[in-house]
Amino acid sequence: MSKSRRRESADSESKELPIYRHRSKLVDAVRENSFLLVTGETGSGKTTQLPQYLHHAGFCKNGAIAITQPRRVAAITVAQRVAQEMHCTLGKEVGYQVRFDDYTSQDTVVKYMTDGCLLREVLADSSLSQYSIVVLDEVHERSLNTDILLGLLKKKILSNPEKGRSFPLKVVVMSATLESDKLSAFLGNCPVFSIPGRTYPVDCTFGFAVGPKDVDSTGYVKEVVKMAFDVHTSERAGDILVFLTGQLEIERACDLLFEKAETIDYRYDVQDQTVDGLLILPLYGSMPTDQQKQIFQSPPPGIRKCVVATNIAATSLTINGIKYIIDSGFVKQLNHNSRVGMDILEVVPISKSEAQQRAGRAGRTSAGKCFRIYNEAFWEKSMPEYTVPEIQRTSLTSVILTLKCLGVHDVIRFPYLDRPEERFILEALKQLYQFDAIDRRGNVTPLGQLMVEFPLQPGLTRALLNAASLGCEDLMLPVAAMLSVENIFIRPGKPEKQKEADEQHRALAAKSGSLNDFATLLSVFQSCKSSDRPSSWCKENWIHWRALKSAFSVETQLREILLRLKQKRDFPVETFHGNRSELLRRCLCTGYFTNVARRSIGKVFCTMDGNGSMVHIHPSSSLFDQEGELNWIIFHDVLVTSRVYVRTVCPIRYDWVKDLLPKLHEVNVYELSSVAREEVTEDEMKKWEAKEAAKRQADPAEDIT
Ligand code: ADP
Ligand code: MG
Repeated sequence: MSKSRRRESADSESKELPIYRHRSKLVDAVRENSFLLVTGETGSGKTTQLPQYLHHAGFCKNGAIAITQPRRVAAITVAQRVAQEMHCTLGKEVGYQVRFDDYTSQDTVVKYMTDGCLLREVLADSSLSQYSIVVLDEVHERSLNTDILLGLLKKKILSNPEKGRSFPLKVVVMSATLESDKLSAFLGNCPVFSIPGRTYPVDCTFGFAVGPKDVDSTGYVKEVVKMAFDVHTSERAGDILVFLTGQLEIERACDLLFEKAETIDYRYDVQDQTVDGLLILPLYGSMPTDQQKQIFQSPPPGIRKCVVATNIAATSLTINGIKYIIDSGFVKQLNHNSRVGMDILEVVPISKSEAQQRAGRAGRTSAGKCFRIYNEAFWEKSMPEYTVPEIQRTSLTSVILTLKCLGVHDVIRFPYLDRPEERFILEALKQLYQFDAIDRRGNVTPLGQLMVEFPLQPGLTRALLNAASLGCEDLMLPVAAMLSVENIFIRPGKPEKQKEADEQHRALAAKSGSLNDFATLLSVFQSCKSSDRPSSWCKENWIHWRALKSAFSVETQLREILLRLKQKRDFPVETFHGNRSELLRRCLCTGYFTNVARRSIGKVFCTMDGNGSMVHIHPSSSLFDQEGELNWIIFHDVLVTSRVYVRTVCPIRYDWVKDLLPKLHEVNVYELSSVAREEVTEDEMKKWEAKEAAKRQADPAEDIT
């Protein structure tokens, strides 16, 4: 399609969206209220259209419009679409900003961004004075950052006696139809504008492949593929949307589907004779954006489109033309795992409301069908009614530090839409205390003020700042960057290729000098950067060039943040007395002493935090088969299957963490509960410190080497 034809079709498409008829009333409602809740079925045009209406109505004269998205891909693709609809170049009037990727300019007045980015902006300017309107979108997803922004904006606007009249910022909260009463009540009974939309019936059927006993199995990919293939051969024309959980699974499903599709004889095997081809398209978060564009285009006549996607296609992105859904019943979710004391990504059954949302994607423009691969017993026994909000199931460490830096001292009585359990708040305070980001009174330390500036996990930030104060940030910046991008090691599907890749990766690890996965990341980064032909270097070494390119850019950005901090404030300076070859590992210890494990027996290690979990080194680590000397390790993250695996591992000496380990136990979370609530008195503090000192004397930390 030519550019101008595409433009015209985008124009006429947007006039057909349910939101179009309500545009002037919507604009009036925004003008009259400081808070407005807009609800409507997914696909009614909220995300792409409302900001444009506000732009046309002249709101941008007083400041830009920010629209937040919980997912970065959504922010990017939607911005692309809106730029196209507004006939402008992306990055001019319409732009986007996501972590480590800023596509905005001075001219940008409609800015799509992740909720995490807006939260960072609140830190720099708590009145968000560059904006006239903030639109919190996809609030029903209940992402951690959106929930916190809701609380902050509520506090800011409603705590004002004038009910926000003197505060110029307007806030529009958008959500699918769920929970609108609760949201409105939370926002001081703000008006609700609901966009009536028409939905068509979707006929849902249960399958046989997955039952309550299969909660931990991954065998569902084959079943999903079989189901999609059956739909293609036996159902009438209409596109298919398949829900799986992540990139690897999606790529495998696409390969399998592709193989099957090759065998079809369209004269005999396919019921609907107008269908004569299948176009298979993957859709997941870290996919290159040019590939993502294809997802939205209509397939050529006669071709059926089959999109194999993560949950991103459930609400954030709407694909037109979908008539059939294949639902695996699973989703990848970040959960706090109390067994290992960390947040981990795990595959879990979706909730019933999520399943209904998925099914609904088939009924936007006509009646549709949804094929669930799981049976009714799975629905009854394994699927919860609703998805638990992220704030109630993940680590709050970064968010609590942000709140503290914003002057919210009482983090327990902060206005949460759904309150996290108190123990999660205390756990976060404990971690912040361990990283020296807050003191015993719960006040942010100068180090905490520096830490909050980095969009990284607190532990990694702590290690980076330690390296910077020792003047060796050149070692740690690349490591931090490499840990912030998607996996850089290519793992080919074919066994013989896999062997070749594994060997190459082992050689890379050996090249770094010592067997240490962090050092390998550093060495890969440096070798590629200094290579004349970096992309071919990557190819030869089975490294994702795209991921490395992002790592280069992330490293530059982290370096800029660091430079700014070094110039502006009293940056701590330390000297290093140990052996230079140990420098990287010693710095890592300051941030990763919470992830220390000690060899127990054979290949089993035992973590040193309160949990004392049994862990194994993951086969992807260069230390996988090491025995003998290796007694103490630190690790970056954890993968839980039938076993608990630790990944990105580094050998350390007990000496290096000896003085840090008591910190894992010395602070009592219940003592911290008072600092979570309010300022503790000097007296109470003294009493507590005396008590702690007495305890330590009675029970000196056992010296275990
Ligand atoms: P809502 O926010 O209410 O769920 P959206 O504004 O996201 O609705 O979607 C409105 C319409 O815009 C849908 O028909 C969707 O297919 C279309 N759309 C959104 N993004 C794109 C894109 N990148 N390319 C083409 N169409 C898009
Ligand atoms: Mg939307």
